[in-house]
Amino acid sequence: MKRPTTFKENTSAAADYLARFASSPLPHIINGKKVASESGETFTNFSPVDGTTLGEVASGGATEIDDAAQAAAEAFGAWSALSGTERKQTLHRVADLLEDRAHEIAVTECMDSGQTMRFMAAAALRGAANFRFFADRAPTAADGQSLPTATHINYTTRQPIGPIGVITPWNTPFMLSTWKIAPALAAGCTVVHKPAEWSPLSAHLLAEIALEAGLPPGVLNVVNGLGESAGKSLTEHPEIKAIAFVGESSTGSMIQAQGAPTLKRLHFELGGKNPVIVYDDADIERALEAVIFMIYSLNGERCTSSSRVLIQSSIYDEFVDRLAVKMKGINVGHPLDPDVVIGPMIHPIHQQKVSSFADTATQNGATVIEGTPFADAPDGGNWVTPMLFTNATNDMDIAQQEIFGPALTAIAFNDEADSVEIANDTPYGLAGYVWTNDAGRAHRVSNQLDVGMVWVNSQNVRHLPTPFGGMKASGIGRDGGDWSFDFYMETKNISVSLGTHTIPALGA
Ligand code: NAD
Repeated sequence: MKRPTTFKENTSAAADYLARFASSPLPHIINGKKVASESGETFTNFSPVDGTTLGEVASGGATEIDDAAQAAAEAFGAWSALSGTERKQTLHRVADLLEDRAHEIAVTECMDSGQTMRFMAAAALRGAANFRFFADRAPTAADGQSLPTATHINYTTRQPIGPIGVITPWNTPFMLSTWKIAPALAAGCTVVHKPAEWSPLSAHLLAEIALEAGLPPGVLNVVNGLGESAGKSLTEHPEIKAIAFVGESSTGSMIQAQGAPTLKRLHFELGGKNPVIVYDDADIERALEAVIFMIYSLNGERCTSSSRVLIQSSIYDEFVDRLAVKMKGINVGHPLDPDVVIGPMIHPIHQQKVSSFADTATQNGATVIEGTPFADAPDGGNWVTPMLFTNATNDMDIAQQEIFGPALTAIAFNDEADSVEIANDTPYGLAGYVWTNDAGRAHRVSNQLDVGMVWVNSQNVRHLPTPFGGMKASGIGRDGGDWSFDFYMETKNISVSLGTHTIPALGA
């Protein structure tokens, strides 16, 4: 069947896909069954495009989290006892079905989150790729090392830690969910997923598809609800052995405290205020394209966005002039229009937060350059206009606070030492980008940046075997490749004597 690609085709597909969510409240999926909350409570899911109601959503709390955690604990024995090869086959079937329903997932994600089809068209395919990557690694997930001595054979092995709580944000909900859930399932863990309350729909599709692909009931459960109720209960539940969390740094702090009494293992992917350093010897054309792409794609709601561009003074004026021209040419519009780059923000609260930074920038003393607004913007939508803040310094709020929208802060620096000092002068430490044609400088600066990931002469190009994660307030732990299994599994050392070593003799 031909995939719809025009705005008109996309909107008619959206009407079909969303109708089911409008007709009855979105249920939880617990132990393979679609269930309402025991209390009957729901919350409303609003469209970012025009503020209309997409549907009601079952609002879970301690009861539903307990049901889901018990289901995950019961399912853990059989799922973890399967061979890696058996888990691999099931997870590939999940990936097959994600690819079959890629357009449905993309349209649903656009309408639920405000992200545009231009980028979401690949969301389900990237999700499927995450499942395939970790499926292929399931058969070797338990492998360890051989560490022999003269008297003992030591070998390590890994076993799944148990039921996992996965808590995800609203910026790219589907992709981020698969990024956590696929390695957990490949490792042999079971999952209780609490998706963001502002964008719950694609998590439901993922769990529905996983069941259809043959994932046993209870292996992947989804409980909808608010962070302070369902999310909090999940982090406190004694059956849940670890929490994989993606969201704000302040929420990470709360989760750390909530998880302390049950000694939760925690993995945090948090906020960022990522520097892109552009030296005057760089390939300016490519640097310009990359800076624009990394801040204005995905609505600027990207943890690794290039939110601070640090430009060497000698090229600052020319570089920001060219940034401004490009930024003004970016289309803001309906998320289902394939030509649109920036759609509506997820929620009126977030729209107000992002927009308010124009005033903040003015109060800070920076210059505000605005892009082209959406001329036909439907009333009630959470529309913003892309922004570029120039003549900024790193002590300003616009350089220190995570805006999480299409707003770029441009700061001048004098020399290499100055650039590194500014880049590191932030509470965050997720990603850094270095643009230079001096190979020595590329390595020197990369080594001095206090961030978890550096890209040299590149935007964020993800390679799944590499580690992903941040330093400082940007996170704890790493995902990707074997690093994911380190989190979802326990490492065990087994030491076997060769029968020759001395055993100290005590007593008579
Ligand atoms: P958020 O922290 O407000 O919410 C994230 C999730 O946490 C939601 O599901 C929410 O319901 C839940 N939650 C809230 N309070 C909770 C509590 N007390 N206990 C348990 N769960 C709770 O984040 P957001 O606004 O949805 O997402 C945006 C943030 O996510 C940004 O800071 C962004 O940088 C970050 N992010 C980071 C990465 C990364 O890889 N580092 C990736 C994407 C997004």
